[in-house]
Amino acid sequence: MKEKVDRAISEVIASAGFIAGEQVWKLEETLAAYVDRKTCISCANGTDAISIALMAAGVGEAGGGSKKDAVFVPDFTFFSSGECPATIGATPIFTDINESTYNIDPDALEKAIKKVKTEDDLIPRAVIAVDLFGQPFDYERIRELCSKYDMLLLEDAAQGFGGYYMTSSGEKIKAGKLGGISTTSFYPAKPLGCYGDGGAIFTDDARIADLCRSIAWHGKDTENPANPVSAYENIRLGMNSRLDTIQAAILLAKFPDFTEHELDDVNHVAALYSDRLKDIKGLGLPQVEKNCFSSWAQYTIRLPEGADRRNIQQRLRTKGIPTQVYYFKPMHKQVAFKNTRSADADCPVAEKLCNRVLSLPVHPYLSDIEVKWICEELNKALMEEI
Ligand SMILES: *Cc1c(COP(=O)(O)O)cnc(C)c1O
Repeated sequence: MKEKVDRAISEVIASAGFIAGEQVWKLEETLAAYVDRKTCISCANGTDAISIALMAAGVGEAGGGSKKDAVFVPDFTFFSSGECPATIGATPIFTDINESTYNIDPDALEKAIKKVKTEDDLIPRAVIAVDLFGQPFDYERIRELCSKYDMLLLEDAAQGFGGYYMTSSGEKIKAGKLGGISTTSFYPAKPLGCYGDGGAIFTDDARIADLCRSIAWHGKDTENPANPVSAYENIRLGMNSRLDTIQAAILLAKFPDFTEHELDDVNHVAALYSDRLKDIKGLGLPQVEKNCFSSWAQYTIRLPEGADRRNIQQRLRTKGIPTQVYYFKPMHKQVAFKNTRSADADCPVAEKLCNRVLSLPVHPYLSDIEVKWICEELNKALMEEI
């Protein structure tokens, strides 16, 4: 892709349209069409995308009283999913996950919602459902709970872009369209990565879309495009969160490869891992539900009980195989939430997994030979453990 990407970067430099250049709008149109949504609003990163979406939906305001909005978040996710609701004045309530899909568990979620409903100072307001490691969350059940308890469903598709969920009536819904509002990230390690930070928000709601654009642009008056000074007319408090034109141009240059072969190729890599690792005793493999397609942001295994993760990582590292622990700590145990209501969570599955998960290298450009070799080396490292 080097030539295409280099050319895209040079074009932006030559045009000097560094902010809000034509590539930004083209990218938004391209991505909105891809996920089949009315609007895509690009922004500076996936974290801002979540905050902007929550602000646009009025989450965190709790009707202005002494109560706070409760936002339900899986206990096993990247920090942003819980950080964003907390920074805008809501209370994240961390909820347990399913052991083999790693995504939020609908039964645990309903239990947590019912508990919050008994508390005087919290109002159930939203669910941030994460497509963890590339697999869409249990969309139909979570959506049902959101309508039952009248909550916003916000999809954090930072890792899920490119995946889809097939409904029981056979409708394929892409990640990015599974929430009332959905967000994603173009951080380099995500399925569709740029060359720095980037993010986007997707919605079909024109009012929310306007608010998101305004908030991402210092609260400017987007409702009145005829206003000639609208860029300097600030009608609400927002932030500075635009996607650089250079990043948009890079994403546009990379996008055809993403849809044409990268998603299939990374699925081939994951399938080969699962085939090669399936007979190792005590090893847990990531499970993709039959009605889901994953974009495999990570291939995350669960080590056998008692195996020393650090030793295994060290052994693999000496062979030149990088591994990473996503995530070593459940959200409710993060120091940032110490002594808050958010630290109070009942998430035994998330706690167990934090001690056992290990993410192996996964991307569309890994060869079969490399995958087989990684599996052999992992097997050897495990044998020496037992
Ligand atoms: C990466 C990530 C984010 C944040 O995206 P940034 O672009 O790094 O801000 C949010 N949620 C999840 C689940 C992520 O993996």
